[in-house]
Amino acid sequence: MQYISTRGRAEALPFDEVVLTGLARDGGLYVPAFWPTFTEREIRDMRKLDYADLALRVIAPFVGRAIPEADLGALLHDTYGNFNHRAVAPLKQMGHNLWLMELFHGPTLAFKDYALQFLGRLFEYLLNKRGERLTIVGATSGDTGSAAIEGCRDRDALDVFILFPLGRVSEVQRRQMTTVHAKNVHCIAVKGTFDDCQNMVKAMFNDLSFRDELRLSAVNSINWARITAQVVYYFWAGSHLWAKDRPLAYSVPTGNFGNVFAGYAAQQMGLPIDHMVVGSNANDILTRFFETGTMTPGDVVATTSPSMDIQISSNFERMLFELYGRDPDAIDGLMDQFSQKGSYTVNDAVWKKALSLFSGVRYTDGEVADIIDEIYEVTGEIVDTHSAIGIAGAEGRRRTHDTPMISLATAHPAKFPETIEAAIGVRPPMPSRILDIMERPERFTVMENDLGAIKSFIRTHGKK
Ligand SMILES: *Cc1c(COP(=O)(O)O)cnc(C)c1O
Repeated sequence: MQYISTRGRAEALPFDEVVLTGLARDGGLYVPAFWPTFTEREIRDMRKLDYADLALRVIAPFVGRAIPEADLGALLHDTYGNFNHRAVAPLKQMGHNLWLMELFHGPTLAFKDYALQFLGRLFEYLLNKRGERLTIVGATSGDTGSAAIEGCRDRDALDVFILFPLGRVSEVQRRQMTTVHAKNVHCIAVKGTFDDCQNMVKAMFNDLSFRDELRLSAVNSINWARITAQVVYYFWAGSHLWAKDRPLAYSVPTGNFGNVFAGYAAQQMGLPIDHMVVGSNANDILTRFFETGTMTPGDVVATTSPSMDIQISSNFERMLFELYGRDPDAIDGLMDQFSQKGSYTVNDAVWKKALSLFSGVRYTDGEVADIIDEIYEVTGEIVDTHSAIGIAGAEGRRRTHDTPMISLATAHPAKFPETIEAAIGVRPPMPSRILDIMERPERFTVMENDLGAIKSFIRTHGKK
């Protein structure tokens, strides 16, 4: 399989190069040259597979000849054998034809593990084969940092540097990063905001000599391998709940649009999805886009669902590419407008096409607390703030009760104990994996918001 850039001016690359490269050199995002597809019969047969075997079935066509199938299978069994639930992504019935898919049974209790546990192993496998090393640099406001650290820890081909804003991530989230004591993991608490961290990471990538010297790579959701791993659980739920004449609907708490795009990919591959609900908090740029056809970012506001506190959904560029019939010139034009005027508007045909598959919906923090309380009252389930937005969107926006609606639960409630306790008066139980996290010693370096100092820290602390 070859990958092409959404902006059309970067060379096509095979899977392994795309994974190691991340962003295309023309500023675009890589997408597969065509969508591999499965027949109805093949999808029905998927329900016979366990999660790791299903992952192999779904991911193999994206990998093509870049990795022998036996090696890929071993990587995937190793990845999902490390999860806490035998089903890996268990389904729970929440109401009439309403299902919750729990995507928080990985090591850091958020759905990002489903992709980053795979990506860390994939990096190591590809680099060992080439005798090369990589330096991962990332900024985090919460879940990505810990999931990346858990995915990459103790892998000799990788050095990992994660920047987070000092005093601005939750204690559980911070400890999930700083209590990992691996030689190749470096946590840097920056005296600044998340945006400061993010801007320094961008500056490091734009400094091409630094980028090449350290062989920098990214673990954010622009990395295509993350999307492939996320397509798997759409087929997982879909193959179990689908029947003839009964399409599927999904509801997804959304930030960077990576998770929703994986659902779209599953649809293109043959899964009969006819509706997706895109849930947001007060950072409602996507909801406003679906209402108006115009993408205009506002200021990021802090909410009780911090992993969705995002104003620019970077993966939406992949969706635009699809909506415009894969025309790279159209995307180039829109992205130019976006960087020059700060917004863009899609044409009517594209807007209508988007609305035929997607519904946007937003909830305030107050509404989210009420939803969590109501779900607890009527089902006894404790759900986290992000997952609550998905469930509310599923119930509020579903087009019919005839088809299964699957809502994605993206984080375990124990990651946000204060908010949950405030909503329902009960503290969510801590899973055994993080039971001792409050006692484990922390290790991190506090640094000024100073690009030069952080670059030299990375130079001296990497292995190379
Ligand atoms: C990252 C994250 C999201 C948003 O996912 P995207 O793929 O960026 O849209 C939602 N919920 C949780 C808990 C997350 O960690």
